[in-house]
Amino acid sequence: MSLIVQKYGGTSVGSVERIQAVAQRVYKTVKAGNSLVVVVSAMGKTTDGLVKLANAISPNPSRREMDMLLSTGEQVTIALLSMALQEIGQPAISMTGAQVGIVTEAEHTRARILHIETERMERHLNQGKVVVVAGFQGISSTGELEITTLGRGGSDTSAVALAAALRANFCEIYTDVPGILTTDPRLVPQAQLMAEITSDEMLELASLGAKVLHPRAVEIARNYGVPLVVRSSWTDDPGTWVTSPEIQGRSLVNLEIAKAVDGVEFDTDQARVALLRVPDKPGVAARLFGEIARQNVDVDLIIQSIHEGNTNDIAFTVTTPILKRAEAVAAAIAPALRSHHAKDEEAEVMIEQNIAKVSISGAGMIGRPGVAAQMFATLAEAGVNIHMISTSEVKVSCVVAAEECDRAVAALRSTFEIEAEDKGTRGQGRIVAETSPPSPPSALSPFSSTLSTHHSYPPVRGVALDMNQVRLAIRQVPDRPGMAAKLFGLLAQHNISVDMIIQSQRCRVVDGIPRRDIAFTVSRIDGENAQKMLSQAATELGWGEVVLDSAIAKVSIVGSGMVGHPGVAAKMFEALAQNQINIQMIATSEIKISCVVPQEQGSKALQAIHAAFGLAGSEKFVVPA
Ligand code: ADP
Ligand code: ASP
Ligand code: MG
Repeated sequence: MSLIVQKYGGTSVGSVERIQAVAQRVYKTVKAGNSLVVVVSAMGKTTDGLVKLANAISPNPSRREMDMLLSTGEQVTIALLSMALQEIGQPAISMTGAQVGIVTEAEHTRARILHIETERMERHLNQGKVVVVAGFQGISSTGELEITTLGRGGSDTSAVALAAALRANFCEIYTDVPGILTTDPRLVPQAQLMAEITSDEMLELASLGAKVLHPRAVEIARNYGVPLVVRSSWTDDPGTWVTSPEIQGRSLVNLEIAKAVDGVEFDTDQARVALLRVPDKPGVAARLFGEIARQNVDVDLIIQSIHEGNTNDIAFTVTTPILKRAEAVAAAIAPALRSHHAKDEEAEVMIEQNIAKVSISGAGMIGRPGVAAQMFATLAEAGVNIHMISTSEVKVSCVVAAEECDRAVAALRSTFEIEAEDKGTRGQGRIVAETSPPSPPSALSPFSSTLSTHHSYPPVRGVALDMNQVRLAIRQVPDRPGMAAKLFGLLAQHNISVDMIIQSQRCRVVDGIPRRDIAFTVSRIDGENAQKMLSQAATELGWGEVVLDSAIAKVSIVGSGMVGHPGVAAKMFEALAQNQINIQMIATSEIKISCVVPQEQGSKALQAIHAAFGLAGSEKFVVPA
């Protein structure tokens, strides 16, 4: 007998008939000998409807009242589902987040879960009842009791958190698609179903726009080793398992705000190649990285900054032993990358040898902009200048001068309380906190022990499109330690999460001070605020103009197998070039590559890339309305 947490999304409970169908599935699962906690969303598009109502009354309603309003949607569904269960002879009881004791921070509209009381649920389960819990909501207990919500899409997070707290055998997310697909089937009907995906990969995909799972749900599954599966509400097909490392005994206190960073990594075996002033037109990145891939050179980070005039800078890092080959390729291709706008100059190749990459890693960084800011502040205090920044959901990496690596690592260890015996910082290393999960091998669910491990998977697993980002660029920020810290500290203070961060490679001396541009993307809703706030800061600090571009889309590819697979980046860029899509920004991490492209080409870009990696299947998915 298993304890199972099932979650049904909005479409799955969108009508009386669908609620009755859910009741049947729940009943069957209980009759098979299992105990069941069921989490439900609001019916259909109820939450959207409530948001509309609020906006009809106020353009800027208070976040407390929004929580009061939106939490009602789920309350309707829990009552109806419990009635449907009782109607077919299955004892059931509905409970709001507050009644269960899903205790959260007092942060309205985006509260994180602190802990979950299990006693009342367990009592009802022991009496043979199905416990039906309202998703997406909790109660804050600091000061007054307040209803909170976890953020849009947050019922997934409620379900996985309940599974962790109850130490359930597994958590099933029932939705309107057959599982996790290679991309959104609404945009690419030929998307294919995956049998399994690692939680690291899914974390990236979810954060890069694949709305099938709330990123925080994946984070909890990963941190607590909760076996998680996404399945269709309409069939009995097995769906997609999200695999996580096996974890033992992680504390359930401060469930979602446990240690954000659990490792500090470094690699001194790095060199950087930059091409300055390459033309800003489709096909340039494809040509450069196509040639690099043909020479079998594996690049690590790639960064393409925003253009200045009509040219771009592209920089990438490689390991020192292959620097010579990479440099030769760059030098050979530079004359061909001639920009007609920059006085017909050819691109300039710039090599920097003595650099190191230092990174912090941990699944608790999502939605916590303060963590990256803290890293930058730590490096600034240690007097370390940051040359390149690359971010992913679970890692922030900075390229620094090699001779500063020791100092950087020591400072980061101390800030993030990562203890380690003195291993020195030459070569490569990872210093991890004692509580951190053992690395890779996946703990498969009790039902999927026959599934293969990941070695047979292609380097790219999934493709995602995010139309909800805007780009900000700050011109002429002085190139000295502390600037990134200042900038991201400001954003963090206003609770604005930064996604891609890119510094220009070109340094320009203005008023006797070397300066660079910094560009980054933030959520669309934060765009104007961020611009206003940063423009003010720019005047005070002597930075240049703050430019906002909201007509952007971000397409990303994700896959753990990209490491050691030269040519993946080239293939992505080539797909965009063939469709005449200009790349405005590039940023990479170990397991993802993201490109910013013009907004109106976002969907076309997604389709082209999905096809280029051979991810399209022969079958077409039709998503039910
Ligand atoms: P629910 O209401 O059940 O929580 P959501 O609408 O939040 O459902 O999430 C399911 C939707 O996610 C699908 O209908 C699909 O359009 C979208 N989606 C985006 N990317 C993917 C992907 N890679 N795999 C599956 N679905 C995806
Ligand atoms: N009903 C909420 C929303 O639409 C939560 C959820 O469905 O996950 O955002
Ligand atoms: Mg959802």
